Amino acid sequence: MDSLILALDQGTTSSRSILFDRSGNIVAQAQREFTQRFPNPGWVEHDAQEIWDTQWATILEVVSKANVPHRRIAAIGITNQRETTVLWDRATGVPVAPAIVWQDRRTAPFCQRLIEQGHESRVAAVTGLRLDPYFSGTKLRWLLDHTPDGHERASRGELAFGTIDSWLIFKLTGGAVHRTDASNASRTLLLDLKTATWSQEMLDLFHIPQACLPEVVPSSMGVSQAPLADISGHQIPITGIAGDQQAALFGQGCFQAGMAKNTYGTGCFLLMNTGTAPQISKNQLLSTIAWDCGGRHYALEGSVFTGGAVVQWLRDGLGLIANAPEIESLAAQVPDTAGVYLVPAFTGLGAPYWDPQARGTIVGITRGTTRAHLARAALEAIALQSAEVLKAMQADAAQPITELRVDGGASANNALMQFQADILQVPVVRPAVTETTALGAAFLAGLGIGLWSDTDEVARAWQVNRRFEPSQTMQWAEERLNGWVRAVERSRHWAV
Ligand code: ADP
Repeated sequence: MDSLILALDQGTTSSRSILFDRSGNIVAQAQREFTQRFPNPGWVEHDAQEIWDTQWATILEVVSKANVPHRRIAAIGITNQRETTVLWDRATGVPVAPAIVWQDRRTAPFCQRLIEQGHESRVAAVTGLRLDPYFSGTKLRWLLDHTPDGHERASRGELAFGTIDSWLIFKLTGGAVHRTDASNASRTLLLDLKTATWSQEMLDLFHIPQACLPEVVPSSMGVSQAPLADISGHQIPITGIAGDQQAALFGQGCFQAGMAKNTYGTGCFLLMNTGTAPQISKNQLLSTIAWDCGGRHYALEGSVFTGGAVVQWLRDGLGLIANAPEIESLAAQVPDTAGVYLVPAFTGLGAPYWDPQARGTIVGITRGTTRAHLARAALEAIALQSAEVLKAMQADAAQPITELRVDGGASANNALMQFQADILQVPVVRPAVTETTALGAAFLAGLGIGLWSDTDEVARAWQVNRRFEPSQTMQWAEERLNGWVRAVERSRHWAV
């Protein structure tokens, strides 16, 4: 009987477990949502215990649904919401405070102070990241500051810090193992990107004792190095670990430098494999470890804050459509936007602008503008924003993108995917299995146990659903991008 891989996909709103077979097909899955807490403006918290409870419940459920003997589950792969910060008591395994979620902005004043003190360029050079509350380092500092004797207890090794991967590994091993993988560690502001080891310089800057940090391990490892999870009395090795976006890049089979993926969800998350050496961005992108799997790969990363969410706004805010898929037929009523651009800077602009003061705008409206033009402009805005991030990546990496692999809810929209290919002038490729995050964790875990011998074999398990070839000229694409850049200028620095 064929071995199966259990992928644990611990996301921002739900915990999921998916069983994959050797062909990358889904055998069974289970999902549980958990509570989002917003105790103060700008604060977002999770209960780490509830995260563990829901994750554990989905493990039991998926095994029971698949109705397979435990011994067929050859390995576990973990992928997780990144940057979310947990601090727990090493002896009792109990969190000392609510987990601070990646979206939480409470450490913005601390980041601002460090920027004013001139630390930003050094932080970027060492970690590849920006001084932003998004990342774990300042969240951990906040937790240590607000826990009684936090710094002292952490220095004595009594408190353990982890991103969600570390927390799940700790719980799955009954508190025996405190580890994180290189991709997750590269989101903390505490890791030296070049060596994949904790940076003493950053630990000093953020005032974090090394004794509370997990050991950094590869994203894929053999059984002899892997921690063992106890699943109902069966010991299953955890041979794959990666943060969600890096796992998706892996699950899209982007193993070579120059390969890129875009996830079209609420926002858009773009990552490009840049090869085996880190590229520090000159175009406001993040530089991150993609994975350590028989050698480290690096990636450039950029995100668009409002992606598919602009479609929700058309539905809920304007009432132009009844459901998200309807935007495709409405937009198809007109051949183009007739010069209308919609910049959905509802919460500011992400990469490459990083302008928190930008706000949404619609320009180029004439008496002839209809709801179909607006729908089309909204759809095109998702692709135009993504194209700007990809162009910044190409400039940084000095490497052309050969194709863009896509996933996420809005990648189901064929018109959007065709427009994306036209505007980028590269093929856009949608895979058969769009659960690329969980699939990436399964691939990493399966490589560890030799289920696939190498990434070439993994690449063969990755199947195409549809390929969108560019159908417009370069000049056409440039005209639209130029118009877009002018529209974005009108949205910037608006809120005061
Ligand atoms: P998330 O994981 O961020 O919740 P999903 O990957 O589930 O996001 O994608 C949901 C998003 O995709 C929503 O913002 C929705 O408006 C958008 N979406 C879903 N279907 C379509 C479609 N056919 N065309 C355009 N956008 C869509």
